Formats: sequence, structure tokens, C-alpha cells
Amino acid sequence: MRCTIVGAGVSGLSSGIRLLESGHDARIVSDKFSPETVSDVAAAIWYPFLVKPADRADTWGIVTYDVLESLCDSDPEAGVKMIDGREYLRSDVDPPPWSDDIAAFRILESSEIPDGYVFGWEFRAPAIDMHYYMPWLKNRFEDLGGTFEEGFVEDLGTLGGDVVVNCVGLGARDLCDDQEVKPARGQIIFIEQDPGIGHFDQQPETLTYTIPRTNVTVLGGTAQVGDWGLEIRDEDNDLILSKVEAIWPDLDRSKIVGGTVGLRPSRTEVRLEEEFIGDTRVIHNYGHGGAGVTLSWGCADEVVSIAGTRKES
Ligand SMILES: Cc1cc2nc3c(=O)[nH]c(=O)nc-3n(C[C@H](O)[C@H](O)[C@H](O)COP(=O)(O)OP(=O)(O)OC[C@H]3O[C@@H](n4cnc5c(N)ncnc54)[C@H](O)[C@@H]3O)c2cc1C
Repeated sequence: MRCTIVGAGVSGLSSGIRLLESGHDARIVSDKFSPETVSDVAAAIWYPFLVKPADRADTWGIVTYDVLESLCDSDPEAGVKMIDGREYLRSDVDPPPWSDDIAAFRILESSEIPDGYVFGWEFRAPAIDMHYYMPWLKNRFEDLGGTFEEGFVEDLGTLGGDVVVNCVGLGARDLCDDQEVKPARGQIIFIEQDPGIGHFDQQPETLTYTIPRTNVTVLGGTAQVGDWGLEIRDEDNDLILSKVEAIWPDLDRSKIVGGTVGLRPSRTEVRLEEEFIGDTRVIHNYGHGGAGVTLSWGCADEVVSIAGTRKES
């Protein structure tokens, strides 16, 4: 089958790789490529955050967890490493549904919970350094025979091939006239200081995180829905630092080395389904919110399954 994937973020590249591995031809058409996609800005820790529907997201997430974990050993240049992290909550809740499926999950002792929080858990999850991961995905796609083409797509129905896979993220707002897609603005800070483990409060209203990467630690965050601003704001940096200091008091502001902003493609729920636009068979795969990396391989597998495994000329 000849597949045209629109979009070169983590969703498009992962879908393209899985299609090629399944014996199809694949080309990616995109107006921007790494390092200029939202995916390049992702923090990125494996965690189903700011994404629905919960049941499908959990399934896609567990598939992706296993793939990312195996990359740590098989492909160290992909920039994935397993880290321990602690999630803190302001009320008692049930453990997440994926708690039995991931490594080293345990409920925290009360002595391990910072002031202002009442509950929490420790877990081991892949941390993905997108500076390494995105080039690795691009190389893998090309090594398998995939091709890239620069271009802005205005009509999915005009693209050739047997199937079009729509992975445009926030771009679906215009391309599909989908007003359910909205930016969830995220600002992050880079610091040359290691917190040892990750510290997280991943409620959208109080979002706080420290993610130790290879060279720097990523501090976050914000999730400002409907905000298109790409400039770094001092008031957001102040807010992020005060939130992080509440769960990581040893933070040393003199070690900050930069920051950036990205617009998560948030949607009421991920759109992963088939649609015919005229005679063109389209598989939509967009709207992953704050979990596009976390769900990427599970979604890519579902794209392949919808596309079908039958080879056509
Ligand atoms: C600050 C921040 C922190 C984050 N942290 C995490 C995290 O810890 N874990 C996690 O899993 N996720 C995280 N995310 C979310 C994650 O980055 C996104 O969910 C993910 O990158 C979405 O990937 P995508 O490929 O669907 O979209 P994108 O990366 O936005 O890619 C879309 C592609 O489509 C192209 N495109 C768009 N419109 C058109 C068009 N009309 N024609 C041609 N090409 C088009 C674009 O150029 C781009 O190449 C974070 C995001 C931000 C901003």
C-alpha cells in the first residue's frame, strides 16, 4: 500500500515507521520538520497526561511504555532512559489503571510526601530526550525506505496514494476545520542540576515537574488552553520555579541555562479513526494533548491495523 503521512512530529514519524515495518511504502509530507515541531519541545516523560479517552489512552500508553523501555538497551542513541519519579496529589485517589503494567510502582509513605500534598506514588518510566529521539525517529524512517517531502497541505483529499495518515497535531484545527483542537501552551525551563529522581504534580491546574535528562533537567510547567503565545514569559518562569521549589526545595536558580515554549495539540479526545474524503481514504491520528510521546507507538500500531496488512501496488 502507498501511504502518505502528513506531519513529521512524533505521531507522523512513529506511524510511518510502523507502516514501513509492515511492508507498506511511506512518504511524509510536512511543512515543518525536527527540530521545529511541537514534538521537539516535549519535556518528555512517559505519563498519560491531558489526554482522553482514558481507556484507549491507557492501552496505547502501555504499548508505548514497553517499546520505549526496550529502546534503552537496543538503541541507546535514541535518548531514552528509565527514571524513577514521584507523583504527588492533593487528595486520596485510586492508583492509575496502568499501575500494574509498569515497573516499580508503589504508594508513597506519608513521610515521603511534601507539604501541601496528602497522597502519592513512585513509579519507573521512560524519560525521552527529544533532542536525540526525534533525529533517531527520522533516521529510522529513512533507513526503512521512507521519504520526506516539504509542503503545506491544504486539502487531504488531493494527496495521492492508497491511504493518507493525518498526523498534523494542532494543524487539524485548520486542515480539518476541527474546532475541538486547541493549543495548551506549555513553557519549560532547563537547569543544569540533577534532582536525582523526577518530582511530579500532573494535575492540569497545578502542573509541576522535574525531569532529569542526559545533560539538563526540565522544569515545568504550564497548560494554558486557548493560548497561542510562543514567547517566553517571565511571570510563567516565576510561577514554574515557585511550584518546583515546593516539591524540590534544593533547586538552585543560578544553574538555569534556558527555556522554551510549545503548544500541545489538545482536543476533547484523540482522533484516531478512518474517514473517506471524496475517494481518499484518510486515517486521522491527532489531538494527543500532553501525551503524544506517551501514546505514540500504541497509536502507530492502531494506524497500521486500520490501514490493513494487505500489500497493494
Ligand atoms: C512543554 C511541553 C511538554 C510536553 N511534555 C510531554 C511529555 O512529558 N510527555 C508526552 O508524552 N508529551 C508531552 N508533550 C506533548 C507532546 O509534545 C505532543 O502531544 C506531541 O508532540 C504531539 O505530536 P504530533 O506529532 O501529533 O504533533 P506535532 O509535533 O505538532 O507535529 C505536527 C506536524 O504536522 C505538521 N503540519 C501541521 N499542519 C500541517 C499542514 N497543513 N500541512 C503539512 N504539515 C502540517 C507540522 O509541521 C508538524 O510536522 C509536551 C508538550 C509540550 C509543549
